[in-house]
Amino acid sequence: MNTVPQDHHPVSVYGHELPAGLYIDGAWTGAPTTFQVVDPSSGDTIADVPDGTAEDARRALDAATLAQRAWAGWSPRARADLFLRAHRLLLDRTDAFADVMTAESGKPRSESLAEFGLSAGFFLWYAEQINHLHGTFASGSNGGYRVVMTHQPVGPSLLITPWNFPLLMSARKAGAALAAGCTVVMKTAQQTPLTGALFVQALHDAGFPAGVVNLLHTTNSAAVSDTLLTDPRLRKVSFTGSTGVGAHLLRQAAGNIVNASMELGGDGPFIVLDDADVDLAVDQAIICKFRNAGQACVAANRIILHQDIAEEFTGKFVERAQALTVGSGFEAGVDVGPIISSQQRDRVADLVGRFAADGAEVLVGGSPVDRPGYFFEPTVIKMDNRDSDLCTEELFAPLAALYTVKSGAEALEFANDTDYGLAAYVFTRDLSRAFSIAERLEFGMVGINRGIMADPVASFGGTKASGLGREGGHDGIYEFLEPKYLAVTVDDEAAVL
Ligand code: NAD
Repeated sequence: MNTVPQDHHPVSVYGHELPAGLYIDGAWTGAPTTFQVVDPSSGDTIADVPDGTAEDARRALDAATLAQRAWAGWSPRARADLFLRAHRLLLDRTDAFADVMTAESGKPRSESLAEFGLSAGFFLWYAEQINHLHGTFASGSNGGYRVVMTHQPVGPSLLITPWNFPLLMSARKAGAALAAGCTVVMKTAQQTPLTGALFVQALHDAGFPAGVVNLLHTTNSAAVSDTLLTDPRLRKVSFTGSTGVGAHLLRQAAGNIVNASMELGGDGPFIVLDDADVDLAVDQAIICKFRNAGQACVAANRIILHQDIAEEFTGKFVERAQALTVGSGFEAGVDVGPIISSQQRDRVADLVGRFAADGAEVLVGGSPVDRPGYFFEPTVIKMDNRDSDLCTEELFAPLAALYTVKSGAEALEFANDTDYGLAAYVFTRDLSRAFSIAERLEFGMVGINRGIMADPVASFGGTKASGLGREGGHDGIYEFLEPKYLAVTVDDEAAVL
């Protein structure tokens, strides 16, 4: 990269020089204090990053507010061209993204590359959507006027993202918001600020005008969101993270009637019926459970097995889990990286202990790995006690919990017995059965004979405690647009000539 400005508080990560400051009104800037970014595969500090304050948040919103009107006025073609330039710049920097994402989130480099590809794909998707935002036209009910329905950008938007998919979450939200004509203040997760900085640098280099994109990193998220959500100039908050924080932000958003989209936690049931292709189900369950060391909102949280295939599935699944290679994401052939922090690793150990105390049998794994960094063994448990509260707790860990049921009906009832409603999965060779179950699953997304679903073309999101609104697909951009109705008087009796 040769376009990083001189005053950008540079850090060097795996040979890539990148900006680590706050990005406000088109320029990188520092802060009175810094915080450390840690590589979870070693526990070593990889960068010191300026720690944004409430005052920085206010300045970012000043800039976003000032830029809003002009940005909303860009023609669709000009905005789409800018997106295409940004997309090309992102692709040019693939290696830097893959290295930085792996260094700060710990995920295997192959997974960083997959996340990068998907994120860039979202940017392309939104570029294509910009020129396809059509309204409607109708005659007024009793004549005399016309009904023109169009859209307008919601306005300056706060985008809060988690660490587990640091680029995907930023690109999916910022792509939709910017495509819709909104200016943004992005707040990355404290664990993964560098990926956000690389992303914003690419947007800067592509030519996004000052104030349109702003970026904050902070150890005091509450101060930043309190400041912004109590400021009437902010018109939108889009959040991805835990349900508890999402509920808190919704309460704050209510104060100024701020438009809100929420992508929250999950408790994904992964149902394998008696007629399923067991080998396919095992393959997909391994990915769905152990990708990103299980730290995914759409991970298989409860693997629900019909009793007729339970033994075969369990044997094959345990064998595959045992064969997974744990290690740093930079090591060749690694399948499972570290947990994000020592606290989270300890939480996983505690979780296994609580399951065991509630009657679960540990079939493989169950312990932290004895090496520097925050590793935990891929773990499989068999859980028969469905009265335990643990059955509906989001695990967010490389911990697979297997349950056995006697019928599809029982599987469905257990699957729906949760406050969450994000992603569910069903495996069967019978298409009618698949539809019948999928349509009764109270979830926003259902994978049928698939364990991975994210795609720019698809609307991603959940129901119940898993959130409000959708990202990507045809719906995502409308989260940042509101309908606008123009009533146009027309004298239907006027002489034509
Ligand atoms: P988290 O809620 O702790 O943090 C998410 C983001 O919110 C981070 O940027 C964090 O700094 C910020 N935050 C925390 N407290 C805040 C506050 N008071 N005000 C404003 N911002 C605040 O979640 P996490 O542990 O980083 O991520 C894991 C959770 O995210 C899981 O529950 C997971 O299921 C969920 N998640 C959901 C999706 C989805 O698309 N539905 C995707 C990824 C993760």
